[in-house]
Amino acid sequence: MKKISLLGATGSIGWQTFDVLLAHPNAFQLVAFSAGKNIEKSREIIQKLQPELVSMQTEEAAKTLQEEFPHVSFTYGEKGLVEVATHPDSTVLVNAVLGSVGLESTLAAIRMGKTIAIANKETLVTAGHLVMSEAQKYNAPILPVDSEHSAVFQSMNGENKKRIERIILTASGGSFRDKTRDELVGVTVKDALNHPNWSMGAKITIDSATMMNKGLEVIEAHVLFNMPYDNIDVLLHRESIIHSMVEYEDTSVIAQLGTPDMRVPIQYALSYPDRLPLSNGQRLNLAQIGQLHFKEVDFDRFRALKLAYDAGRMGGTILTAMNAANEAAVELFLQEKITFLEIEECIERIMNSHNNIALPDLETILHVDSETRKTVASMVK
Ligand code: NDP
Ligand code: MG
Repeated sequence: MKKISLLGATGSIGWQTFDVLLAHPNAFQLVAFSAGKNIEKSREIIQKLQPELVSMQTEEAAKTLQEEFPHVSFTYGEKGLVEVATHPDSTVLVNAVLGSVGLESTLAAIRMGKTIAIANKETLVTAGHLVMSEAQKYNAPILPVDSEHSAVFQSMNGENKKRIERIILTASGGSFRDKTRDELVGVTVKDALNHPNWSMGAKITIDSATMMNKGLEVIEAHVLFNMPYDNIDVLLHRESIIHSMVEYEDTSVIAQLGTPDMRVPIQYALSYPDRLPLSNGQRLNLAQIGQLHFKEVDFDRFRALKLAYDAGRMGGTILTAMNAANEAAVELFLQEKITFLEIEECIERIMNSHNNIALPDLETILHVDSETRKTVASMVK
């Protein structure tokens, strides 16, 4: 029985993790979880899985639930995230919180030697060197939840890592993949939120449309698999059936395939090195699909992807600045305060004026993160 702490239980990944935990009561036990503002979903998780500790974003929400569930411990805010992540009974942390708020709690769990199943890519982008060096020091395995990285991880099982030639990340292209740059002028939030293959949280759906999501994933792959940027490629693949591939020195390419369902990589990170049946899982029927399509990426069309490669190659605090600028700009776009193309412009402006610091410590990263958010807010005013 694996005992689990779950950050971001009420989000898209968190809720699918809940589904996996419900389906396998003999394999997993939820001991602690965090949520943001969603009281209803939190209530359902508490009723069905009876955790010991729950953290809500606000004190008010924690108090409301405390009255209903007197036998459960409640906490809140940033310290609550750390308490959930470091709960003494859990051995696995699933980090499915959104954005760089997940960083400190993840580092705290790593220092306890817990296994980290990581969906929260912003943590790896903004502080990849810290996360990986601490993970090595404290013997904490980091297992990918992101579908591409799970595919890469599965395609490396049992292989000699020195023989890897290239990682090939596949990309659906997001909601605007068939539009030219000119056609992106005036696109709406509603259009952007309409992803062709995956149902995900709002922020990552916008990131998919700008392809910053793929950019963050390139950096995530560099961090997780210690692969130089020159050996990480992105390939457009509209069906999202091949979730990613690894090419070896002998020219063999190993891939992981499946119908797009995030519960597969979530469950694999939890059951690893074993596999479990997937409840109501849809089997892949390639004969029915008939054809798979592939296309080279145009870096002028998907400028955010180019910016991410640039930041990745530079390393240092520019990664934090890029990520924070993107988080802030996407938020402003969702509030309809800036246009879709202004997301990229905003990131580019932040990057161009950034004074880069190599190998930053946690304090520096948190400082750059909050300063960047302030700068983006003032740019819009
Ligand atoms: P969602 O927006 O759906 O969920 C985010 C979760 O974090 C919710 O539980 C939310 O709480 C909580 N949360 C948000 N802000 C705070 C805060 N300040 N303090 C505490 N909790 C907070 O995101 P996703 O599930 O889509 O994504 C989560 C992570 O997984 C991201 O890093 C994303 O890039 C990554 N990812 C997501 C995929 C997907 O399919 N969705 C695929 C691969 C990676 P509440 O809702 O209660 O307010
Ligand atoms: Mg992904």
